[in-house]
Amino acid sequence: MTRLSLDRLNKSYGDTLAVRDVSLDIAPGEVMCLLGPSGCGKSTTLRIAAGVERQSGGRVLIDGAVVSDAETHNPPEKRSIGLMFQDFALFPHLKVLDNVAFGLTGQGRSARHRIAREYLDRVEMGAHADKYPHELSGGEQQRIALARALAPKPRVMLMDEPFSGLDNRLRDEVRDAALSVLKEENAAVLLVTHDPEEALRMADRIALMRGGCIEQVGAPYHIYNNPKDRAAAAFFSDLNVIHGIVRSRQTDTPFGLFLTPGLVDNADVEIIVRPQHLRIDLDEGHRPESTAKTGVAAPGTVQRARFMGSESLIEVAMDHDGSVLRATVPGVFTPETGKRVWLSLRRESCHLFPCAAQSTVRSPFVHDEKASV
Ligand code: ADP
Repeated sequence: MTRLSLDRLNKSYGDTLAVRDVSLDIAPGEVMCLLGPSGCGKSTTLRIAAGVERQSGGRVLIDGAVVSDAETHNPPEKRSIGLMFQDFALFPHLKVLDNVAFGLTGQGRSARHRIAREYLDRVEMGAHADKYPHELSGGEQQRIALARALAPKPRVMLMDEPFSGLDNRLRDEVRDAALSVLKEENAAVLLVTHDPEEALRMADRIALMRGGCIEQVGAPYHIYNNPKDRAAAAFFSDLNVIHGIVRSRQTDTPFGLFLTPGLVDNADVEIIVRPQHLRIDLDEGHRPESTAKTGVAAPGTVQRARFMGSESLIEVAMDHDGSVLRATVPGVFTPETGKRVWLSLRRESCHLFPCAAQSTVRSPFVHDEKASV
């Protein structure tokens, strides 16, 4: 069952095509994160779903009924949506309880207050009902804003960078609280963020957006581990790129051979590997034994090593081409500059992409999983 459908949405501002052919279906109780760099069209898509912006083409449906197309355009208040923005200010002259009760209509004052209290309790703010917004911290205000958006029981929640104004520690706390209340409410949630960590943490599915288009949709685990291309992989973390050349359906690299059926001889291939998927061994005078999991180790020299808190980052200049690869390892590991090391790849975590203009092949080492794309 689909709660919110965006059907081939387009939006242009003059010559700028901000949203291109965007389609998404979100089920009740599902959190869909629209993730992408600044200016890629996320907010425009959300504003079209809300009805505060009208699309140039395409339709918006809620529970299968058209709320906006070329003929129809229901205003936001007729869509059963809740809205939450980073700077969605509470009314400063109203107490917290009245702020939450504000959107409840068609009921007496005491019924509205009863519902408002219920939602304040849900976000663990019941004790603050009689305060004014300026007496609360930023995180508390965001919880109140969430209670206010949810109290009318919207069928769809639309959230635009709702947590980005909060500092790190508070953000995690408010995010987790919001997620548990949203799940209980069973609304379809469309959450816009430019923060990959937030998307990985919050989403049931992530829609990766670039240049106005949806590039890839999938469960966090799936989209992180099966990026459709180098740019999609780069969105989630720093990357190492290793170049190889196809010979007899295998790609030859300093880290051993990778099977690449379907690619012609001499094709250039990029092997993408995240820093945490490199293995680093100090040079004990011999090459570490090659295994099916790690392939062949390649030698290099430590250029720099830094302790980063929960992990250490080591930059290694490789003997074979002078390129610098970055490895992270948990805990403290800071070999001196100039130290000789061996790097190897955790092969199941590598992604192979032919260089531009060649068709995509999947790494034979990448684990598949059930989630849909
Ligand atoms: P994001 O939310 O991903 O940062 P937006 O949806 O805000 O991106 O913007 C997408 C593109 O549309 C950008 O190029 C932006 O400059 C343009 N844009 C957004 N809103 C307007 C507007 N009201 N008028 C003109 N251009 C706009």
